Amino acid sequence: MKENPNEQNAEPKSLNFLEEIISSDLAGGKCDSVLTRFPPEPNGYLHIGHAKSICLNFGLALKYGGKTNLRFDDTNPVKEDVEYVDSIKEDIKWLGFNWASEHYASDYFDQLYEWACELIRKGLAYVDDQTQEEIRKNRGTVSQPGVESPYRNRSVEENLALFREMKEGKYKDGEKVLRAKIDMAHPNMLLRDPLMYRIIHSTHHRTGDKWCIYPMYDFAHGQSDSIEHITHSICTLEFDVHRPLYDWFIEKLGIYPSHQYEFARLNLTYTVMSKRKLLELVKNGYVSGWDDPRMPTICGIRRRGYTPESIRMFAEKVGVAKRDNVIDLSLLEWCVREDLNKRSNRYMAVIDPVKLVITNWEEGKQDECYGVINPENPSDERRVIPFGKELYIEREDFMEEPPKKFFRLKPGGEVRLKYSYIVKCEEVVKDSKGNIVEIRCTYDPSSKPGAGEWRSVKGTIHWVPVHAAKKIEVRLFDRLFTEPFMDSIPEGKDYKDYLNPGSLVVRQAYAEPALLDDNSGIAVQFERTGYFVKDKDSTPEHPVFNRTVGLKDGFSVKK
Ligand code: ATP
Ligand code: MG
Repeated sequence: MKENPNEQNAEPKSLNFLEEIISSDLAGGKCDSVLTRFPPEPNGYLHIGHAKSICLNFGLALKYGGKTNLRFDDTNPVKEDVEYVDSIKEDIKWLGFNWASEHYASDYFDQLYEWACELIRKGLAYVDDQTQEEIRKNRGTVSQPGVESPYRNRSVEENLALFREMKEGKYKDGEKVLRAKIDMAHPNMLLRDPLMYRIIHSTHHRTGDKWCIYPMYDFAHGQSDSIEHITHSICTLEFDVHRPLYDWFIEKLGIYPSHQYEFARLNLTYTVMSKRKLLELVKNGYVSGWDDPRMPTICGIRRRGYTPESIRMFAEKVGVAKRDNVIDLSLLEWCVREDLNKRSNRYMAVIDPVKLVITNWEEGKQDECYGVINPENPSDERRVIPFGKELYIEREDFMEEPPKKFFRLKPGGEVRLKYSYIVKCEEVVKDSKGNIVEIRCTYDPSSKPGAGEWRSVKGTIHWVPVHAAKKIEVRLFDRLFTEPFMDSIPEGKDYKDYLNPGSLVVRQAYAEPALLDDNSGIAVQFERTGYFVKDKDSTPEHPVFNRTVGLKDGFSVKK
């Protein structure tokens, strides 16, 4: 789906399908308050897709005066870790949301075990000794019914005893499983005696070695929702086939009837979001870490200079869909530009410098200019920019043989230096290889803003005074992948084949001195260039700035 951000501005404020459901549930007395949950598995860092889910779950509850729980879906001890728990909490808070209470599926292990025993007693669950391979084979196919397990008709007593022994550690991983007894010929394959428990001898990050049997997603998620009295359990579309099972367990146990609703997961162009792939990028050094500013993780996006406001705006604009689609990454970039344009402080920095020398500058003359800090801020506070005989300007702001509509600096042409004088190019100095090393200009002393009559010229360029310039490192980030639709790359190709070799370009740049005193805490605008945020790698001697996004939509792939 191609998004046009401008069109989105005029969006009608009708209810989305989830809001309609909630409104009608409240109106019809199906529930009297709303309780949603965000249920991450602590097996990786959160990404922009999770941010969408967070904004949705918390946003819906806020809209209807309800609450949202944070629940860690920690049912697989092998992949989970407290490192992830901590980062997830930090990311949700950074996005601006507060959970009502914090829970762990592992807190419910005793209750889940009891409920499993209850289903056994009702003749609705049994211990199966088949191997994983046999179970898979005997499930049948979409067109063929499955084959019932030879262990399916064990007595309640035997099942209870075996299940207790599983819990007590008598069996090895994979030796036995607990299955729900539903229907091996069910058209929905997930209802063909789904697994409820498997044996995993592994230390859990919270329950330690207390358990060696762990509930499957389907026997943990809905039950956890029910324990917490979640009214609206919102998940992504791929879980729609799980819904009958979600409902089956709740019905058979006769517990609080939470309900599941599905929405389309967020996909973004030029981006991969599976945790497995993100982990691989980190482990194999394709990026510098989970918080590499090119990563779609929340910590990466934050380090890149995105604001929580811009991400919430993005989630709002994406809306909720019932069918899978791919959102253009430029919509996310548009949102951060929109937010930073209103709030960020302005400075000048020259990223690819060439020297400009003012030949008629009076010997020893001291001067300074006054730059707007933020045009949207009515206080009209100004920053001081020292001026002098020698300046850096951007190499691309000068052309020796320019096309017709080039309004920047050219031989014999005039341009205004932002907040300052008009200069005229008189001479170009080159080195032996023909590279321009210096542009010699004269200046018009009466053209400074506030000094005499305003004279206008077509072009304005930014600059930095050589004598007061501060050296900074800039990291110019671009899209991590060259291919927009990373989920539909050709067979036989690997997603890593599409890594953009130009996704990080490091440059030594010059900035006006006031930049280094900025304490706004958010990204700043380098005038005419883009938004940049100070990176955590900065030291007082070596400031580092990450480019959040350019001022205009632009994308180049280095060949
Ligand atoms: P992965 O498949 O990459 O491991 P996951 O979906 O298993 O991710 P969870 O930690 O289980 O990750 O997800 C927590 C919540 O975030 C779930 O409700 C899930 O549906 C939702 N979520 C995950 N990815 C997206 C996405 N791309 N768009 C919207 N919601 C998402
Ligand atoms: Mg999951």
